[in-house]
Amino acid sequence: MFDGDPRIERELLEVLRLAPAPIAHRIVTTCVIVGVAIDSLGWIDGYPDPPCDDATRVVLGCMARGIICHELSHAWHRSPRSPRSPRCRRERLRDAERMRVDMARAAVANDDVGWLVDLELEPETMADRVASLWLGEVVNTCGARRNAEIIANIQRRAAATGNEGSDT
Ligand SMILES: [Zn+2]
Repeated sequence: MFDGDPRIERELLEVLRLAPAPIAHRIVTTCVIVGVAIDSLGWIDGYPDPPCDDATRVVLGCMARGIICHELSHAWHRSPRSPRSPRCRRERLRDAERMRVDMARAAVANDDVGWLVDLELEPETMADRVASLWLGEVVNTCGARRNAEIIANIQRRAAATGNEGSDT
């Protein structure tokens, strides 16, 4: 299910045509894909009806096939979610953020964030590998800039005040 810039849609359809069948099936049956930003001044629109009760939302802001495949690989690899109440979702997100704050504090306290950077990069390198196999060319979204963003996020989380972490 796609809505948005038709140029992104053309690239999306092309990469789906190249996709291994299980990936293509998963994407078309569980994802709402929105293409935004290229030459866009803005628009308002409703979301299309999702293909299932708990659709995965994919937002694409470029026509680069490597990036499109990378994001679709995340969507394909994501575990199926069972429908949950909004409150349950919020609690799970809060618990996950608490765990990330605790891990960031431990990494910064030990002056060793490398293991946490590797852990955060794992799903990204996996999506890059799937996208590379899919397109038959190297897709690498995990360069120095991504590393620096992850380290900055770890330091931000470690420095966060309040009760985000379980040790406060
Ligand atoms: Zn990614």
